[in-house]
Amino acid sequence: MEKGPLLYEGKAKKLFTTDTNNVLWVEYCDQATALNGARKEQIAGKGELNNQITSLIFEKLNRAGVTTHFIKQLSKTEQLNERVEIIPMEVVLRNVVAGSFAKRFGLEEGAVLSEPIVEFYYKNDALDDPFINDEHVKFLNIATDEEIAFLKAETRTINALLKKIWSEIGLTLVDFKLEFGRRADGTIILADEISPDTSRLWDAEGRHMDKDVFRRNIGDLIEVYTNVLTKLENGVK
Ligand code: UDP
Repeated sequence: MEKGPLLYEGKAKKLFTTDTNNVLWVEYCDQATALNGARKEQIAGKGELNNQITSLIFEKLNRAGVTTHFIKQLSKTEQLNERVEIIPMEVVLRNVVAGSFAKRFGLEEGAVLSEPIVEFYYKNDALDDPFINDEHVKFLNIATDEEIAFLKAETRTINALLKKIWSEIGLTLVDFKLEFGRRADGTIILADEISPDTSRLWDAEGRHMDKDVFRRNIGDLIEVYTNVLTKLENGVK
């Protein structure tokens, strides 16, 4: 397969077309952002860690029967993805109180939710990705009732699989963000990435094994992500 011209450059990824219809060549970059891009840093090695972690997780989801955009890993920093039209919505699932959920409801981080909660955010940097409900999703023509129901159910299915994948290496899946895309035929499939950049993962001692080490300046991101990747590769706690 031949790499084509740059199609889009995001905060942490570059997307290139290829000589094959509907296949994108994706390169993970070293930029870390927080506060919706207001804080930016180059962290050497971050791109290759996220690409490798995301690839391993998507391979596991594909094998478990989830339809995803992931085709294959090409190199430490690159992967091939099916080209889809990204639905402009961040789908967040929470198993444990943390982050903006703790702030919004004035709660301490750490309480386990009796039922996982699915939330939607409108993907719009200029508006700081506002929290939206099902009716806003319909008003904004982002998705229909049927699609909303599918997105919620699919996110819960993916949560069950991810919880197991992370718990096998001793990590609690606190919360995570997913993005979905539409194929030309309208089918909705899982897209984007799943990594410590997009998931909160706590170890048995309650240490943060995710981007919160960068957001909160409480540790070395490369050391933490390397630890996560090594555990995933070796399947050990
Ligand atoms: N998240 C993400 N991208 C975003 C916002 C959130 O990947 O633009 C992830 C984040 O890593 C966490 C989950 O979604 O795993 C919930 O994040 P939260 O709403 O608590 O926001 P934060 O505290 O990160 O601002």
